[in-house]
Amino acid sequence: MEQTKKQIAVIGGGIMGVTLAYKLAQQGMQVNVYERGDNLGGLASYMLFDDVRMDRFYHTILSSDTMMQSLMEESGVADKRHFTVTKQGFYDSGKLYDFNTPVDFMMFPPLNLFQRFRLGLQVIYAQFESDWRKMDSIPVENWLVKVSGRGAYNKVWKPLLRAKFDTTAESVPATYIWSRLKRMMGTRKGVTSKEMMCYLENGYYTLIEALAKKCEALGVKFHLKTGIDEIVIENNKATGVKIAGEFLPYDAVISTMASPILSSIIPNADKSFRDLLAKQQYLGVMCPLLILKKQLVPYYVVNITDEKIPFTAVVETTNLIDPQYVKDYHLVYLPKYLAPDSPIANWSDEQVKAEWMKYFHLMFPEFEDSDIVEFIVQRAKFVEPIRPMNTLDEIPKIQTPVERLYMGNTVMIYPDLGNGESVTRFTTKIVEQVLADAPTWSHERELSGQKTQS
Ligand SMILES: Cc1cc2nc3c(=O)[nH]c(=O)nc-3n(C[C@H](O)[C@H](O)[C@H](O)COP(=O)(O)OP(=O)(O)OC[C@H]3O[C@@H](n4cnc5c(N)ncnc54)[C@H](O)[C@@H]3O)c2cc1C
Repeated sequence: MEQTKKQIAVIGGGIMGVTLAYKLAQQGMQVNVYERGDNLGGLASYMLFDDVRMDRFYHTILSSDTMMQSLMEESGVADKRHFTVTKQGFYDSGKLYDFNTPVDFMMFPPLNLFQRFRLGLQVIYAQFESDWRKMDSIPVENWLVKVSGRGAYNKVWKPLLRAKFDTTAESVPATYIWSRLKRMMGTRKGVTSKEMMCYLENGYYTLIEALAKKCEALGVKFHLKTGIDEIVIENNKATGVKIAGEFLPYDAVISTMASPILSSIIPNADKSFRDLLAKQQYLGVMCPLLILKKQLVPYYVVNITDEKIPFTAVVETTNLIDPQYVKDYHLVYLPKYLAPDSPIANWSDEQVKAEWMKYFHLMFPEFEDSDIVEFIVQRAKFVEPIRPMNTLDEIPKIQTPVERLYMGNTVMIYPDLGNGESVTRFTTKIVEQVLADAPTWSHERELSGQKTQS
């Protein structure tokens, strides 16, 4: 029976890889997941501090994330999720402001009445725009200035764009902000309503762990600390993977890695395909976690307009997560997204701490260092794809030009944003494609293995 099952290698054990394995196994495929890290989860993985599991990077699930909600239900962790209304703040010229509903926008003190009105209008305007392809050739600045006006753009949008895109902000199309405004408003009902967010006890990993257990019950095998060195391609067909010189044959290989990593492990694929993958650009992130003895601010997130502050937001996740689940610590993340050429990516942890804390004290002059329990620096290189204007034809396809090699990653999810909801939703498309092709695969797997064993 096992012999007749289609054998699939999924590379990458992030939330996308694990969800993909689950869905393929449900369809009767034999799936092996290879993850080079120590744990599953990728960007949504965890770190341990004082025996407490904490998200490596802050993660929330929105009430409108329907795929994530149903995965939580299917994997039996729905009773561990908690919905909370959170608040958002804005830091401008040394002061903190509430920044939540369109009504708050209209009361926002750093703007005059007319600017506030236009800012609120922008949020509403985005909800009625449905033709995102049209926006893909409009620079984000032009689109925002047209409705919000120059004043609100400089005071609000520009710093927000800088926070998300670092020095690449000017090259991105309007689609990005539109997508964010749509996602943000998806969690609210009516203009005065509050944001609904959800967290899982013991973090996002609770879902990944439960889903992995469901997978194992369906026969999926997970291989941790097992990086794939090469996807073997013979006559333009993926025949398996290589790990430390050993060839493992598969009927098909699915990559969930970032595009440049995939490019680097397919030496026998056509050069034009490798080049296309290699040129996909991503923002990285530098994201220290400050573990504190007490609450810092009442907001889940504070956006920062002051350009001299190196981090671009203060994300206090324990305003969402009940601190009782993290031994009563208070968790504050201080992220900065980094352009691909940012020198900050090469800073040592000590350098990051010194620079970050200098400005942290400037923002919070009353803060005392004795309230710090730990300062932990987390960083990642491939986080948010950058899609310059008019490059839609450069988005890779699920079925790559190599037969039986499939791929899925955040570059391909455009114009949706890369998050748990969009990547798990995208697995449905991959599974559809694989199921459509599978009946045409013949069984030369074993022969191929013998031929190329090294
Ligand atoms: C600071 C920050 C905050 C975020 N906040 C949120 C949030 O609030 N809500 C939300 O939904 N999303 C959030 N996200 C986004 C979310 O984390 C990602 O969209 C999601 O985790 C992507 O999952 P993935 O499986 O596609 O990719 P990844 O998590 O990147 O997984 C890819 C995996 O491939 C593995 N890999 C790479 N090369 C190899 C190899 N050669 N062999 C084997 N394995 C390999 C990697 O180790 C990795 O585990 C946030 C991300 C960051 C960085």
